Amino acid sequence: MTEEKYKALVELFLGRDDWAMPINNASLIDWNGEKWISGTNGHSVLLLPEGMVGGVSEVDKYPKVVNVLPEIPEMREFPRITGDALSEALKGFKKEKVFSTKPCEECDGKGEFWYGSHTYDCKECDGSGKINDKYLWSEYNSYEQVCIGTSYFSVVETGRLESVAKALGDAELVANSFVGDDGKTRGSLFRVGVGYVLMMPCTPSTVQEQPIVRLI
Ligand SMILES: [Zn+2]
Repeated sequence: MTEEKYKALVELFLGRDDWAMPINNASLIDWNGEKWISGTNGHSVLLLPEGMVGGVSEVDKYPKVVNVLPEIPEMREFPRITGDALSEALKGFKKEKVFSTKPCEECDGKGEFWYGSHTYDCKECDGSGKINDKYLWSEYNSYEQVCIGTSYFSVVETGRLESVAKALGDAELVANSFVGDDGKTRGSLFRVGVGYVLMMPCTPSTVQEQPIVRLI
């Protein structure tokens, strides 16, 4: 794996919305006595050992990733899921292309035009002010759920775990979703090769049309 490939994995986990600026960049955090590169969108976290991706600074403003990471329990064997098993579980779900965006040139990124005392949505960007720029990758666009251990995760987040498992090795369920000392639900922690993925569970859906896929 090249540094570029590790960087692409981290970017997969970063927020891309304007409002989420503090989590649109990777940061360096202290965890378990070591430094880790952390990438998160607020729903899941990817941790890679320090130095695997350059140019990452020690900012952990929001969210405080360290606060939601569990201690690694002392166990020799953890339940294991291969990247292929994750792909098999996700094969019924569709992927869509993800692009980086740039300000719309028609409306100068405003998304609307003034005419007299009215505003009109820009047709070029559908009122968003942004247009697609560069193709980044394809990812699942379904919010159906997959069950791993005793917790339910969105297909989108499970797809991120799949990408990491394909790149770094089998995913081991190190800590099942648990409730912290503060009473808040923490995520499930997976060790994947040299890295870790923490995924926040969702409330099991009672209305989803497709059956829940169960893994381990
Ligand atoms: Zn526009």
